[in-house]
Amino acid sequence: MRPVDIIYKKRNGEINTKEEIEFMINGYVNGQIPDYQISAWLMAIFFNGMTKEERYHLTMVMRDSGDIIDLSGIKGIKIDKHSTGGVGDKTTLAVGPLVASAGLKVSKLSGRGLGHTGGTIDKLEAIPGFKTAISKDEFFKIANEVGMVVAGQTGNIAPADKKIYALRDVTATVDEISLISASIMSKKLAVGSDGIVLDVKTGSGAFMKNIDDAIELAKSMVEIAELNNRKIVALVTNMDQPLGDNVGNSLEVLEAIETLKGKGPNDFTELCIELGANMLDLSGLYTYEEAVEVLKNNIANGKALEIMRNWIKAQGGDERVIDNPGEILPISKEIVEFKAEKDGYISHIDTEKIGIASMVLGAGRKKKEDEIDYSVGIKILKKLGVKVSEGDTIAKLYVSSKSNVEEALNLLKEAYEITNNPPKEEKMKLIYEKIVGGK
Ligand code: URA
Repeated sequence: MRPVDIIYKKRNGEINTKEEIEFMINGYVNGQIPDYQISAWLMAIFFNGMTKEERYHLTMVMRDSGDIIDLSGIKGIKIDKHSTGGVGDKTTLAVGPLVASAGLKVSKLSGRGLGHTGGTIDKLEAIPGFKTAISKDEFFKIANEVGMVVAGQTGNIAPADKKIYALRDVTATVDEISLISASIMSKKLAVGSDGIVLDVKTGSGAFMKNIDDAIELAKSMVEIAELNNRKIVALVTNMDQPLGDNVGNSLEVLEAIETLKGKGPNDFTELCIELGANMLDLSGLYTYEEAVEVLKNNIANGKALEIMRNWIKAQGGDERVIDNPGEILPISKEIVEFKAEKDGYISHIDTEKIGIASMVLGAGRKKKEDEIDYSVGIKILKKLGVKVSEGDTIAKLYVSSKSNVEEALNLLKEAYEITNNPPKEEKMKLIYEKIVGGK
């Protein structure tokens, strides 16, 4: 086989075979095929797409380039949850304990944040003492005893995806459905869960800006999982405004704790119940309707909060954070208010800019090596559709001496649009679509 012939076929809109896809990916990983040929092939895929079967072969060869994580040492049903990423998305912190309180085992490998979206590992490390670098034995022990464990992604999961993603990033080939779905699913299918619930974000804070593209991506990932005989459900959800009210590491942990106390923001609470109920439905432990009831009850009776306490303690964190989050978490006392400049309705929020504003305050990284400040972030007081008067506080910025407050305020000013009319209802809907595998 010659790479040029495989590129030629794809350029002409033909279908690549399983063997051809394997030849390209393995050749690239082994250093036998150069960047420029893979770049040309990726661009041909960008313009001509891939069939469902091609996407599956691409996913599997990337998955098989690295470790396969065997979770059979954890007793019980293990349902994985994955979000494509958004601003204020702290769902793992609340959904994990919530579904564990209903009998699921949650054992997640998570990443750090880069750019405008945060990462679960950074959020957890805001809790004093919390260790995310734990051994395999500890990981299994905590999962079995507590029902919930999260560790930083180490080892070698889908290294082919890592190498290809770096190339896509510099060749303008990231935003293509086949490539995104194979990239995400190669990592998800490398972990031996009993099922997967995907939260595919769409809107101004997501990389899928429009709903139709997000639905197509969700369907593509569901098809890949089906071909792998893996149970899956994908929800397409709103990222046209931050999820919940808090953005920034400590502030997001605080919000997750408040949510398990029944005092969380409505949108975040609703999404946690929705994702959790789908995880339980997929597991076969409950029907969707039963699961909604169980999860609501486990917030009201404190069971989910107790799992969170045990989990934090098991991973070395200061469990007093559950009772006194405002005191135990590092949260800056220095607050700058962002105010409305005119009367009207909040009709649009450029959510990506809110994420970037939080990053320039110090909550996120521009480059992988940057240090982050757990104490800073943004509390959103006014969201889409709310009527404001000039001078009303829209958001509170928690800042430190290193924060670039001026840049953050400018970003917020650019992010918020205030007009005479409220936005369409559609823009404020939380869940747009549910795609169930195997149907
Ligand atoms: N996230 C991934 O893991 N891969 C992509 O291609 C895009 C988002």
